[in-house]
Order: sequence, then structure tokens, then C-alpha cells
Amino acid sequence: MPLDVIIVGAGIGGLTAAIALRRSRHRVLILERAVNKTEDGYALSSTPNASRILRNLGVDLEKTGFTPWMGIDGFEGDVDPVTPAWKSLWVAPPGTVEERYGAPSGFIHRADLHRALWNLAVSTEGTGVPVKIVEGVTVESFDAVAGSVSTVAGEVHTADLVIAADGVRSKAHAAVVGEERPAEAPKAASIRFVLASKDLQDHPACMDMVKGSPWRMSYYFGEDKSVGLFRSACRKDEIQNFGVYVYRHVDDTKIWTNEEIRQLALECLSTYKEPIPQLIRAAPEDSFYLRKTAHREPLPQFYKNRLVLLGDACHPMMPSYGQGAASAMEDAAVLGVVLRNVHQPQEIGSRLEIWEKLRKPRASAMVYLSRRDTTAFEVSPQLQAAVKGVLPPDQLPELTPPAIVDWMWAYHCVEVAEQAMKEQGENS
Ligand SMILES: Cc1cc2nc3c(=O)[nH]c(=O)nc-3n(C[C@H](O)[C@H](O)[C@H](O)COP(=O)(O)OP(=O)(O)OC[C@H]3O[C@@H](n4cnc5c(N)ncnc54)[C@H](O)[C@@H]3O)c2cc1C
Repeated sequence: MPLDVIIVGAGIGGLTAAIALRRSRHRVLILERAVNKTEDGYALSSTPNASRILRNLGVDLEKTGFTPWMGIDGFEGDVDPVTPAWKSLWVAPPGTVEERYGAPSGFIHRADLHRALWNLAVSTEGTGVPVKIVEGVTVESFDAVAGSVSTVAGEVHTADLVIAADGVRSKAHAAVVGEERPAEAPKAASIRFVLASKDLQDHPACMDMVKGSPWRMSYYFGEDKSVGLFRSACRKDEIQNFGVYVYRHVDDTKIWTNEEIRQLALECLSTYKEPIPQLIRAAPEDSFYLRKTAHREPLPQFYKNRLVLLGDACHPMMPSYGQGAASAMEDAAVLGVVLRNVHQPQEIGSRLEIWEKLRKPRASAMVYLSRRDTTAFEVSPQLQAAVKGVLPPDQLPELTPPAIVDWMWAYHCVEVAEQAMKEQGENS
């Protein structure tokens, strides 16, 4: 008998979990608050640990417009943003990322990835029963013991297992750890905007800026380390994607118009030389997003009874390593493995214990690592101590920037989970 699983939230984490569980032959219902749910209109970095999961679940990266990047050039934004100042922060000759890690690192437009995952979840083809997604349903509370959720409309839905994948503001963790622990919002935000690569032709100086960095990714830093800019390509190079990191207080109590966000970007990078201001002015108004960033001290438990916390609902982290969605996907893919060949609800508990053992140390370490200052690549002694406190010694990387990248990227969560199941004598 397949398990009946309810997933709250059809974001990247919820959809990935739905596909993984469908492939393990369980019946999945997703309850999503939004109607016509899509994702923000800019790029998401998919590092090899995430790209491997996507491929494994049957996502055709090529069709999502996945744009690999081969290295990062560094520029001095307030001196000369066209000539690389340091070559380079990180460079891999073409092919090396895939050769070294077994999967590529690249950028995917968030809406393209979301659509691909959604289509795969509900497809009538492929392994298992198509996932049912009901939109316009807001879940208000979770009951870990009953395995149920209550909606604002007063409905109660019950299943063998409930997965809370409802993002950073989720209250599901309170049903697991016994109290509300809201995510902390440090003095940090991210402004995102995009430009069609073809539109850069009207701005030759901006074109020079992109051509100056053939690795498809560049960082622009200046004297003021509380701000920074990065650029990457996505949708097979059709789109240039920009992110302004802001390590300052940004008023998140007001609703920002797109034009106000553009002005904020110009103000933050006011010492940056042309063509950067020109580029910000040239970007379409509706492409500007302002995202506050948040993290939470790792939770002592990631599940209780029949309720599992997944992705940002469990371990929100800063975007400095681009690992939030990747970690949500790891949670999801590992759940798919540990719940293979489970036919009775009473078998779930021992499997979730294995899941938590696999996920808690790594995701908690990722939360601490993500708190590093984006404009500095070193991890402070304080964060190093925190990481050492959550990762067992045999999993602990040397805490240098390249060793951390290896630790994040080389991880094959499905293989690790399959091995753990074997060691526990479980049938996966
Ligand atoms: C600026 C920025 C840049 C980032 N860049 C990267 C990157 O490059 N790479 C990377 O891996 N990660 C990145 N991240 C992190 C990544 O975006 C998140 O970790 C990831 O999207 C979390 O996915 P999720 O499915 O857990 O949650 P969400 O994406 O928040 O999805 C939650 C879903 O639940 C629904 N929902 C919420 N409440 C309810 C409710 N009560 N009832 C029903 N449904 C509900 C929501 O509508 C939504 O669909 C970035 C984050 C930020 C802020």
C-alpha cells in the first residue's frame, strides 16, 4: 500500500519532494496558498549537488535553459568595472566542474525550474501516480501527532505523513519543537534585476562589461564592503541576471515599487563607475525585486511524529553560497530514498530517524556557513566553531573557501542515503 502524503507548499522544495515521493510510489497531495503559482523572474544557482538531484529525478537541464558557468571574474566596481581586477576568484577550464563533481554548476531561471518541476510532478507519464496540486488553499495549523493540517477555510486534511514546505514564514516548526522560533532578518537584503542579452546591444559599454568576463559570472566589489554586485547568465545566455547584495538596514515594513527598488540599487552602488549605473537604468522596471534575507539558528529536531519540516520551513539560510534551494532539494531527494518500500504508517518513524540523521548535521552546518559576509570568502572563527559543533568529525571539511566548495558540491545525497539505508539493514 502506498503512503498518503500531504505536502504544504508548491515551491521548489515541495515540488521536488513530491516528485521524489511519487517515484517511491507514494500518493502525494500538495496544498498551495497561491493561485497560478510561479517563481520570481530571476536566476537561481544550481550547484552540482543540486543539478545532480534534478537530473536524477528526470529534469532535463538542457530544456530548462540551464546555463553552466566556468568561473568567476572579479572587478573593482568603483574603479573600472570593465577590466577584470583579479583573474580570478575561481576558474575551472570548461568541462572541469562536471568532470570533478559529476554534475554541472549553472544558473536556471527560477520560473523555468519551477515550471519543469511542476510539469514533472503532475505528468501522467513516468513512475508512480501523478501528484495532485490544489491551489488557493492556505494552511493555518499543523498537528504532528494526528498527521493533519487545518486550513483557513476550516477544512482538515489528514495523511500518513505531512511535509511542511511552506517557506521561511512557516509556523510548522512550532508543532515540532514546541515553540515559535521566527527566522531572524539580519541587516541584509538582495536586489535582483535582469536584462535580455539582446537588449545589451543598445548599450555597447554594458556589452563590453559582459564580454570582459567570458566565464558567465562576475563579481563587482568596491571600497564599501557593505554592498556588492554580481552578474550571471541564464536561459542559455539569453538573459543577464544581476544581484546587488546589501549588508545594510533596508526598511521591509513598506511595500517598495519596482522603480524605488531601482533607485535603491543606484544609491547602493553610487560610487560604482559607468557602465554599471547605465545598466541599472536600462533594465526593465518590472524586472526589479527586493528580497530580504533571513536565517534561523538550527532547530534541535527536523521532524516529529508524522510531520516533517523541509527547505526554508526548516532551515532558512542566507543566500551567500546559493544553497537554500539546493538544501531543500537534498531534504526532498533523501526523503524519497528513506521512504522507499514503506507500506505501513508504523514504518515511517524509523525511516524519518534516518532522514534526520542525514539531513540535520549538513543543513545546520550550511546555515552557519551561509552567514559569512558575501563580500569576504573567509569563514570567521566564530562560524567555524559553530560548524564544528554540528558536523561529526568525519564529515567536517577543512574550513577554507575551496574545501567548503568541495564539501557542498561533491555531495551525492542519494548515494549517501542509499548507503545509510543499507547500513541500517533497511530495504530501499
Ligand atoms: C535573494 C535570494 C537569492 C537566492 N539564491 C539562491 C540560489 O542561487 N540557489 C539556491 O539554492 N538558493 C537560493 N536562495 C534560497 C532559495 O530561494 C530558497 O531556499 C528556496 O526557494 C526555498 O524553497 P522552499 O520550497 O523551501 O520555500 P518557498 O520557495 O518559500 O516555497 C514555499 C511555498 O509554500 C507556499 N505557502 C506558504 N505558506 C503557505 C500556507 N500557509 N499554506 C499553503 N501554502 C503556503 C508558498 O506560496 C510557496 O509556494 C535564494 C534566496 C534569496 C532570498
